Amino acid sequence: MDRAVTNRRKITEVKSVCCYCGTGCGVAIETDGVNLLNVRGDPDHPVNRGQLCIKGQTLAAAHVRTGRATRPLIRPKRGAAFQPTDWDTALRLNAERFAQIIATHGPDAVAFYVSGQLLTEDYYLFNKLARGLVGTNNIDSNSRLCMSSAVTAYKSTLGSDTVPCCYEDIDLADLYLLAGSNAAITHPILFRRIEAAKNRHPERQILVIDPRRSETAAYADLHLAIQPGTDTFLFLAMLHVLVWERMIDEAFIATHTEGFEALRRELAELTPGAVSPICGLSPKTIVDAARRFGSAQSPLSLWCQGLNQSIHGTSNGVALIHLHLATGKIGRPGMGPFSLTGQPNAMGGRETGTMATLLPGHRDPNSEKDRSELAQLWGIPSLPERPGKTAVEIFDALAEGTIKAIWIACANPAHSLPHLEHAVEALRRAEWVVLQDAWQDTETAPFADLLLPAATWGEKEGTMTNSERRISRVCTAVPPPGEAKPDWWIVQAFARHLGKALGIPERAERLFSFPTEEAIFLDYARTTAGTEIAIETLTYATLDQLGPQQWPFTSGQSQARPFSDHRFSYPDGKARFQTLDRGRLPEQIDARHPFLLITGRLRDQWHGMSRTGRIPQLFRHDPEPVVCMNRTDIERRGWHEGDLLRLRSRRGELILPVAAADEVRSGHLFLAMHWGRRSLSGEGSNALTLAVTDPLSKQPHLKHAAVRVEKCNLPWRTVILRRSDHPDNPIEPLLQWQAALRPLVANFPYAALTLDEGRWPILRVTLAHSTPPEDELLERLASLLALSGPELLQYEDRSNHILKRARIAERQLTGILLSGETAAAHWLCEAIKNGTQTDTFHRWLFAPLAEPPLADLTSSRIVSNCRMVSETAIRSAVAAGADLERLQAELGCGTVCGSCLPEIRKITLEARAVQ
Ligand code: SF4
Repeated sequence: MDRAVTNRRKITEVKSVCCYCGTGCGVAIETDGVNLLNVRGDPDHPVNRGQLCIKGQTLAAAHVRTGRATRPLIRPKRGAAFQPTDWDTALRLNAERFAQIIATHGPDAVAFYVSGQLLTEDYYLFNKLARGLVGTNNIDSNSRLCMSSAVTAYKSTLGSDTVPCCYEDIDLADLYLLAGSNAAITHPILFRRIEAAKNRHPERQILVIDPRRSETAAYADLHLAIQPGTDTFLFLAMLHVLVWERMIDEAFIATHTEGFEALRRELAELTPGAVSPICGLSPKTIVDAARRFGSAQSPLSLWCQGLNQSIHGTSNGVALIHLHLATGKIGRPGMGPFSLTGQPNAMGGRETGTMATLLPGHRDPNSEKDRSELAQLWGIPSLPERPGKTAVEIFDALAEGTIKAIWIACANPAHSLPHLEHAVEALRRAEWVVLQDAWQDTETAPFADLLLPAATWGEKEGTMTNSERRISRVCTAVPPPGEAKPDWWIVQAFARHLGKALGIPERAERLFSFPTEEAIFLDYARTTAGTEIAIETLTYATLDQLGPQQWPFTSGQSQARPFSDHRFSYPDGKARFQTLDRGRLPEQIDARHPFLLITGRLRDQWHGMSRTGRIPQLFRHDPEPVVCMNRTDIERRGWHEGDLLRLRSRRGELILPVAAADEVRSGHLFLAMHWGRRSLSGEGSNALTLAVTDPLSKQPHLKHAAVRVEKCNLPWRTVILRRSDHPDNPIEPLLQWQAALRPLVANFPYAALTLDEGRWPILRVTLAHSTPPEDELLERLASLLALSGPELLQYEDRSNHILKRARIAERQLTGILLSGETAAAHWLCEAIKNGTQTDTFHRWLFAPLAEPPLADLTSSRIVSNCRMVSETAIRSAVAAGADLERLQAELGCGTVCGSCLPEIRKITLEARAVQ
C-alpha cells in the first residue's frame, strides 16, 4: 500500500462482524475507502467485547490482489484457458445453458451448492432462484458438512432447529460438557470465556469428550478419551446412571416430554459395565461423568464437528440433548445443549432454508402447508415437491449424469468434500459448472466453465447470524476490485436473464426486483412471521440502533433463551425422547488398514485456506503440513520425526511428513482438514475420507477413516526458501510465485508450498523425489523465483547431484535453493525470515550443517502468534522460575487473543516435569 496516497484519504472505521467462525465476533475495520488498513475487535459488540483471535486480527491482511477474481471468465471449451468476458455476456450465456438443460432434462437436472459464508441476503436470493424460479429443491450448502446433524438432532427432540442457549450461559453454567469440540482453538473467544469463568469459580467443572488429548481436553477436570465414534453409547450409559441413581427429573419428564418410557427400556442394558469396552472408558469414569453432570445445577453442553461429522451424527446430538431433557436442565440460565456452528453464517443458512431439507423461515419442503404458505408469500403458484439432493447426493448425481449443471457459490468442493477423487470426477463429468467466488485459484476453479467474480468480506453489505442466534450487520468498507459484484447482485441479474430464457420473465421480475440488500432482508424477514425465528419487525436501522439482536425478535426485544417456559416446538409443546442408532464406525481398522485417522483443525487456519492461506503470519504456529502420530508408534517402527509417510485409505492416498504428538493415542493419527492442492502436490486430506452419510442429516462421516501407513522412500530432497525483494510489498510476490510454482510441483510425489513469517514473510517450497530431479525442471523452478543467474552464489557437486544457490541483497539472505543436501534448511530459514546479516554465517552458507552455527539461528516454533513468542523463550523463562502470570507479564504471550494459553500451560507443565 502506498502510505502517501493513503494519507491523503480520509481514514474511517466501519463496524462489521468477523467472517470466519460461528462465534460471530464484532470488528471495527479501519479503511481509507480503498484499502482495508486494520481490523480490531469491536468493544461494543456483545459477543466479544473487543477481543479477537489471531484469524480475526489478521483479516485485513487477507485483502490481497493475487488470486482475486476481478472479471467474469469463460472457457471457450473444456480444458482451454479462461477468457475474460463481460457481465452481460456471462449471465446471458449462463442463462441459456441453464434454460437448455432445464428444458431438455427438467429442473432437477441443475443444482446449487452454496456456502455457510454467504450473507443471509445472498442465501435468500439463491433460494428464490432455485425453488421459486428454476423449480428445484436441489440447493444445498457446505454447512451440510458442518452442522446438519445438529439441525436434525434439535428438530427431532425440541421440535425445531432452535438453539436453546446463548453465550451468557457460559458465564452462568457450573459445568461445561464439551463433546467433539476443540473449542480452545476452534472457538477461542468462547473458550476464553469458559477459562475466565473457571478462574473466577475454580469449583466449576469442565468435562471434555474427545479421543485426542486436544488443547481443550488438556484443560479439563475430567477428560473422557473415548473410542472414536462411540459418543451415543457414552451418553446413553450416562443417562442409565442418572436414571439408576434417581438424578433425573421425573416431574419435568412427565410434564414436558414424550417418549421417555421407551428410552428407559432401552437404557436397561446400557450399563456402564456393558458400554465400557465399547467406549474404551472404565465403568468408574462413566459413572463419574454422569454424577458430575447430574449433580450440576446448570450444566452447559457444547458440541461441534466431533459429534456432527458422523454416520450417526443425529444420534450423537439427540443422546446429548436427552441428558438435558431427562434432568430438566434446559431453558434456564446457564444450562442446555448448545451446538457451536463452524461457519460464520451457517445459522443464517438454516434460517433462510438454504439446505435441500429446509425452506425459509424454518419451513419444511416436505410439508404441503409450508410450501403453499411460502409460495403465497412469494406470489407464485407453487413450490417444487420433489425432495432436493444434499451435498454428497448432488455430487453422486453429477457423477451419474442425472444432474447436468451445478452452480457453486463461495464454496470449494474440490477441497472440502469427502472422497475427493469421486467429487473431482463428478465435476469433470458435469456438463456445465459455474463457480461464483472471490478467488479464481481455488481447487474447484480448474473445473469451472464459467467463473463469476464475487465481492468478499469487507466489500459487501448484509447480515449474518452466529451460533447464539444473534444477527449482526456486515458492512462495506471498500469497493470490490475490478468488476467483482456482491453475490446477491449476481443472482438477481442472472435470474432476470433466466426468466427470459425460460419464457417466464414476469415471474423473474416479481421474485427479483430488489434495489438494495435491505429490501432483500425485509422480504426474508416477512417469511419468518409467525415462526419460531420471527424477526419480521427487525430492520437494518434497528440493528444499527440497538446493535446485534437474537431471534426470535418480537415486541422490540430479543429472546435469549427460547424455551424458558419449557414449551417446546412440537404442537403439544412437549419435547421428544427418541430411540437411537448407536452404530459403530462405518469403517473399522483391520490388518490392511491398521490406523484410525482422525481429522480436525489447526489453531490459525480456516477451512480450505483460500483466505488464511494467503497470510504468512498464520503459518508461524504450524508452518508445514504434517500427520501427527503417537511417539511410541513412530519409534516402534524405527521411524523419525520428519520422515515422509504414505497414508492410504480405501479411497486415496497422501504423502506427508510425520510429527510426534503425545496427545494422539497409539493406533490413531491426526490430520488437519485444511491441507489441499493449494499447499500440496496431492489431493489433500479429503483424498482419504469417506463419503457415507448420516441417514437423517445426510452429513458425511468426515471425522474418521481407516488407513495404512508406510514409510515413503523419497530420499532426494529440495528446499527452496524465498523472501520478496520489495520491502513495500513483501507478500504479493510470494503469492504470485506460489501460484506459478503449483503446476510445476505437481511433478513431485511430495511437494509442500507454504508461507511463513519472522521479521520477513517467506515462501517455503519442500520437494521430495526418488531420484534427482531433471536439471531442466530444477532450473525452471529456480528461475521462477529469480534463483538463477551469475549474481547468485552457487555450489555444485554434479557427481553427487548436489546444487546449492544463495541470493544475497544488502548483506541479507533473500533466497536459498538446496537440492540433494538440505541439512541446513531450518537455520537458513531463520536467517531469511529474520534478516540476519550474512557476514555472521557466510562461511557456513553451503555447509551440510544440521546444527546452526550461531545460537541466533536456532529455530523455535512460535507459540504466541499475536506477540511472536517462541517455545524456546517460554521454556527458558519457565526454567528461570516463571509461572503463567510472569510469562504473560514478561513475554506478553497469552495476553491478546489467548489462543496460545493451552499450549503455554502444556509447555510449562512439561518444563517443570524435567526440572
Ligand atoms: S473467534 Fe476468531 S475466527 Fe471466530 S469470529 Fe471471533 S475473531 Fe473470528
